[in-house]
Amino acid sequence: MSNRVTASIPHLGPLARRLLAGLSLGALLATGTAQADTVLVTADHLVDVLAGKVVDRPAVLIVDGRIAAVGTQGAVTAPADARTVALPGLTLLPGLIDMHTHMTSQPTWNGYESLGVTTADKAIAGVANAKVTLMAGFTAVRNVGADAFTDVALRNAIDNGLVPGPRMKVSGPLLGATGGHCDENLLPADYGRVGEGVADSPWGMVQKVRWVKKFGADLVKVCATGGVLSKGDSPGAQQLSQEELDAIAKEAHALGMKVAAHAHGTDGIKAAIRAGIDTIEHASLIDDEGIEMAKKRGTWLGMDIYNDDYILAEGAKVGMLPESLEKERKIGRVQRENFAKAVKAGAKMIYSTDAGVYPHGDNGRQFAKMVQWGMTPLEAIRAATRNAAEAMGTAQDIGAVAVGRYGDLVAVKGDPLADVTLLEHIPVVIKGGEVVKDQR
Ligand SMILES: [Zn+2]
Repeated sequence: MSNRVTASIPHLGPLARRLLAGLSLGALLATGTAQADTVLVTADHLVDVLAGKVVDRPAVLIVDGRIAAVGTQGAVTAPADARTVALPGLTLLPGLIDMHTHMTSQPTWNGYESLGVTTADKAIAGVANAKVTLMAGFTAVRNVGADAFTDVALRNAIDNGLVPGPRMKVSGPLLGATGGHCDENLLPADYGRVGEGVADSPWGMVQKVRWVKKFGADLVKVCATGGVLSKGDSPGAQQLSQEELDAIAKEAHALGMKVAAHAHGTDGIKAAIRAGIDTIEHASLIDDEGIEMAKKRGTWLGMDIYNDDYILAEGAKVGMLPESLEKERKIGRVQRENFAKAVKAGAKMIYSTDAGVYPHGDNGRQFAKMVQWGMTPLEAIRAATRNAAEAMGTAQDIGAVAVGRYGDLVAVKGDPLADVTLLEHIPVVIKGGEVVKDQR
């Protein structure tokens, strides 16, 4: 009940939410019509991502959507009227988090076909993709780039209980340079098309940061270098100056927003790290110096090492430009090798997949790639739970099965620390203590 009251006010801080939740619950109790919604979840095992160990015979008590106690069965008990969710034979993990999604994009919207896609098409696709993503076990995502603030609308609709989906942190439109990865480069000058987030000076960028904040963005996404799927640019080329990146990071941080930078090229990656940007997305051509800089600054790397397989196998069929496929062939393998180097060097890693380039719902396929290229299964799972929450500044809410955080859990049959591909087909998903999927 209290959740419904506070969920309709999406921008409250956690303390305000808790206070309001308490007030509304108290008011309702006074009338004698309500009580706390209490759920006890039990299973055979629990992956504790904070301690890095497995708990046997776990019990998780969730009250009004948040975890009130975690322990072993018998030690943690629930009141007689609590709901129980018994998952014998299953292993619990925290709900998964994808730090790089495009929920309002479809993998078929490529090249010149994309010019026929309307804002309404994008918004409706977002509704479908949100459900698919939640059912895949991703109970939270960061959406990094959506036209016309379609991601803000989707986040609000999910928070208000209008449509099912993961908890979302959203950037709104992408910020970038004229002719860069985040501009509209398909049509000739006659058509006058310019990307919504395009600016070409530090002050122009400051204005764009304030603009996305004004219309509901939680964070800023900026294109520091060229990209694979954009026309006429090179992934290796830096597209924003150090001054522009500095201005973006400074203004965003002053407004309480994190910054994610799309950066494939070596120089652009370093400029973004120097600027104090929080997460480097792709990081394909990062070199040893870049890895050291990221470690020193505490910058997170979100390397999307699954989607290379999809782009090379399916890209031509789904209308990606021939130049895009050529760029992917040059960069895909190198990115994986650099991922292995970054892992070995101990860089801080998050789980960023670029969902929307490949079909939504396949987000879990990157776990196996991360293990193949040097992570332990626990490290890969931490990238998509504990680390992701830390990088977003939401460790008080998500990223672990721990007291105070939302009751967001998934469960699999078997040991995900022995076989991480179990996370590609998750049978049980719980969000805020509600079982949203049970296909045991
Ligand atoms: Zn992306």
